[in-house]
Amino acid sequence: MESNKKIILTGDRPTGRLHLGHYVGSLKRRVELQNSGEYDDINILIADDQALTDNADNPGKIRDNIINVVLDYLSVGLDPDKVTICIQSALPALHSLTFYYMNLVTTARVSRNPTVKSEIQMRGFADEGLPVGFFCYPISQAADITAFDATVVPVGEDQLPMIEQTREIVEKFNKTYGDTLVLPRAVIPENETQRRLPGVDGKAKMSKSLGNCIYLSDTPGTVKKQVNGKMFTDPQHLRIEDPGHIEGNVVFTYLDALCTDDDFAQFLPDYSCLDEMKEHYMRGGLGDGTCKKFLISVLEKTLVPIRESRAKWEENIGDVYDILNDGIIRARKKTDAVLSRVRKSMRIDYFEDRNIIGEWENLLKDRKQ
Ligand code: ATP
Ligand code: MG
Repeated sequence: MESNKKIILTGDRPTGRLHLGHYVGSLKRRVELQNSGEYDDINILIADDQALTDNADNPGKIRDNIINVVLDYLSVGLDPDKVTICIQSALPALHSLTFYYMNLVTTARVSRNPTVKSEIQMRGFADEGLPVGFFCYPISQAADITAFDATVVPVGEDQLPMIEQTREIVEKFNKTYGDTLVLPRAVIPENETQRRLPGVDGKAKMSKSLGNCIYLSDTPGTVKKQVNGKMFTDPQHLRIEDPGHIEGNVVFTYLDALCTDDDFAQFLPDYSCLDEMKEHYMRGGLGDGTCKKFLISVLEKTLVPIRESRAKWEENIGDVYDILNDGIIRARKKTDAVLSRVRKSMRIDYFEDRNIIGEWENLLKDRKQ
């Protein structure tokens, strides 16, 4: 269905506090989009049901982290007057849509989804057995996106196959039942390192499940420990005067994702920009200690205001619940309306469709003749 509105749906799994990967890959962009005034409607979904698909034995973890995630949202500057923050489990329309969409996707197609494939490996489901719920989560994600009539989905790179799968479901639905659903498109960060920030250990992705994160709410002491103690650099760069490598060096990857020329003026005036610093490192003569110290300053510049704002919200948890409750009421209206439209297109809106009575009467008449 063509939409003349600009609507965003995006979200996170409440499996832990949000980290720097979320910030550069998605949160920062959300705040910019929110403040651009260009969007008619912005929705942020905390995917608690999706999180249960690989945490069924630990619902307490999901319960605890819902508020952690809302606190992270509020502290990075998402404004509940401008965006709707809601939870998946409180929106029954999403469950119904998932159930209908399941019939439009083959198991072979989900099995080919590269993100699902790698997550199955990462979670050990290849050996232990794969929960059906986890296998179906790309379909529930399609339900989330379409239930808000989203046109734009800002995400990190790992989510591109999910949006692709959603687009296929939309096309299949519209072809089967008539033009009903809006076709969404993904928006990923332009900066390559922001699309998939690696973990401090150098692993491909900073991820709660891999335990290689710098969390937005980490204390300055923890941030320092993660950078100085754990951050992967160049194992061949043993002495300061040795030439160093940038490729795969996490300190430089993080600087690529985060630092600006202003940061050099403020914290490391020996260089005017990152390229100059990189050249020196590659030539030899620039030590990892100096690079890490600069990175910590850059990180803290981002993290200090986030931490301060979080501390204020933490003193008003009642308000945080009210914000969430308010968001849920608004989101329920929007998603129920889309579900009604879907049921109408599928002609399973039995009690709204009075034609059904006439159809039966005709059928019975025919039978009598
Ligand atoms: P989990 O391990 O529970 O899957 P996660 O750390 O992968 O957690 P999600 O809640 O799955 O986080 O992801 C939420 C959003 O953040 C998605 O849009 C995803 O693309 C983005 N994102 C997650 N990790 C990164 C990262 N390291 N770099 C860039 N974007 C990321
Ligand atoms: Mg994930």
